[in-house]
Amino acid sequence: MAAQNSTPSGNKPNQKNKMPRFNLTWLYIAIAVALGYLFFAGGDSDQSGASKNVTYTVFKQYVEQGYANRIVANKDDGTVRLFVKPEHIRDVFQQGVEQTGKQPFVQADYPSADKLDEFITQQQELGNFTGELSYKKSDDTLMTLFWNLFPLLLIIFVWIFIMRRMGSGGGGMGGIFNVGRSRAQLVEKGSDNESKITFKDVAGQASAKQEVQEIVEFLKNPKKFTDLGGKIPKGALLVGPPGTGKTLLAKAVAGEADVPFFSMSGSDFVEMFVGVGASRVRDLFRQAKEKAPCIIFIDEIDAVGRARSRNAMMGGNDERESTLNQLLTEMDGFGTNSGVIIMAATNRADILDKALLRAGRFDRQIHVDLPDLSERKAVFKVHLRPIKIDQSLDIDLLARQTPGFSGADIANVCNEAALIAARHGKQAVTKEDFLAAVDRIVGGLEKKTKVMTEEEKRTIALHEAGHATISWNLQYANPLIKVTIVPRGRALGAAWYLPEERQITTREQMLDEMCATLGGRAAEELFTGHISSGAMNDLERVTKQAYSMIAYMGMSEALPNLCYYSNEEYSWQRPYSEATAELIDKEVKKMIAEQYERAKLLLQEKKEGHNQLAQLLVEREVIYAEDVEKIFGKRPWASRTEELLTTQPEEESEN
Ligand code: ADP
Ligand code: ZN
Repeated sequence: MAAQNSTPSGNKPNQKNKMPRFNLTWLYIAIAVALGYLFFAGGDSDQSGASKNVTYTVFKQYVEQGYANRIVANKDDGTVRLFVKPEHIRDVFQQGVEQTGKQPFVQADYPSADKLDEFITQQQELGNFTGELSYKKSDDTLMTLFWNLFPLLLIIFVWIFIMRRMGSGGGGMGGIFNVGRSRAQLVEKGSDNESKITFKDVAGQASAKQEVQEIVEFLKNPKKFTDLGGKIPKGALLVGPPGTGKTLLAKAVAGEADVPFFSMSGSDFVEMFVGVGASRVRDLFRQAKEKAPCIIFIDEIDAVGRARSRNAMMGGNDERESTLNQLLTEMDGFGTNSGVIIMAATNRADILDKALLRAGRFDRQIHVDLPDLSERKAVFKVHLRPIKIDQSLDIDLLARQTPGFSGADIANVCNEAALIAARHGKQAVTKEDFLAAVDRIVGGLEKKTKVMTEEEKRTIALHEAGHATISWNLQYANPLIKVTIVPRGRALGAAWYLPEERQITTREQMLDEMCATLGGRAAEELFTGHISSGAMNDLERVTKQAYSMIAYMGMSEALPNLCYYSNEEYSWQRPYSEATAELIDKEVKKMIAEQYERAKLLLQEKKEGHNQLAQLLVEREVIYAEDVEKIFGKRPWASRTEELLTTQPEEESEN
């Protein structure tokens, strides 16, 4: 691999790629033609058998001697053929039927058709010739040729047709032969689908852009990094819901760095033929290496990258697995600095095979989330550029009216609004058109994505503010960094905390965190009067935590210092009695109930602040530690980690 580790030198024009590839198709056609020729040659019965050229005089003698079986004259070249009667073959050829074949003939040039006619008629009258004289034109030969070849042509035609269908449009009639080639779309300088997308076209997504910036730097100037012995990630995984601009971002990286961009969808690798996926992966990487530095973008990587089934009994998808294995092999196979960077997109990072996420592969995950209020505004600005909008249009209002919309949805709104305005014969697109477009798209979206109603938005804001309020006001809870009510993944909102780096956790710390986690549900109950399904994730975490505290860590008064942990994977037997089981259940309930009450009490106490926070969340959709600090004041227990707030936060998403 040493050769590939060397620094790629720019975009050298690739001669090799331009050469017509030797294609098996031509071989097959050649064979077919040869077969057809043999078939034709053998099929013409007139020619089977020996033949001999004689003068017209000799020809006449043969006829007079009564050797002729039948006579065929060809008017085009002025020759006449005399097919010899079997019993006279030896007289003419001095050979037996075995050597000459059944229909040997002698051929002569005849002076004119009239003369020949006359001679033959005369011989017929004399009884020397009892057969027929027939004339034949070259046209006949062509027709015969055609009719002889017809079945063959038909077969070839059907064959080509089937091949085409199998190759499903893969490059002309060579479809089947190209089935193992990657169908990656290539965007590069000078290609006809060149469209330069840069970071300017990607609105919002500031943190994602910042993360890919390094990749751009590397692609632009690989030497700078390799000289210092630096290693650049081979792959980055863009994780986020559909339509949030993952493809756009990858294209922008290619555009910024001015390198070729290969794009392919994960599902393109998966075909019904065994081995095709793997060979497409191989082909894709081969092409990419030739064009290095470049970017490979694999959309919907989960189509190939889903975790391999551990259970052979379930009958895993061998084809997909071999494709995935090939992908892993290829990723390991080229050097870190070969200049090929793979970006992949998925909205389910959790179902990907762990092997894909290991160091040296997609070791970097970049979250591309649904845009928040200000980001939506930015996306609107990008997509309003080409649209003639009315002066009075308030972009703020549009952004506020579209919570939960993805970038693609917003692009859609803009387009739809323009269409609506055009339908009404307007000069410019107005606010009404946009609102109509929003309604229309919400109607279409409701089922598939999370579009929030005002009421839901308020509930989610109250819930998230509950977490924020409690974690801010409890000594041992993790300090908060950011809270949002933008839906992400299956969660409706999220809060990011900065966990303290600690090897051991005390009971107090765990209880404080439990209290903060319950703060969402507690706030819902206190301030909306209803409890909602939104807290399920929280409750699950709390319950698990309480069980492990009680059954494994010996942290309850009723069961102190007992650990019932069993590391046997499939132990059906609990290592404790029925009575203990009941006790554990009881203790778990008690612990959670206590923390829930504590959360409610604290929320009552901080009611004002909590409501302000919730209000701020409704307005801005994202708030940061500073905003919380403004409301509740500085946390009195500034911890060591809080001083490191500038470092990358560990993210914790939840309902
Ligand atoms: P994904 O790959 O995440 O499903 P795409 O990158 O294909 O989404 O985005 C689809 C379209 O949505 C883009 O072509 C673009 O028009 C629009 N879009 C999405 N996100 C943004 C964004 N952040 N800024 C501008 N346009 C966006
Ligand atoms: Zn929650």
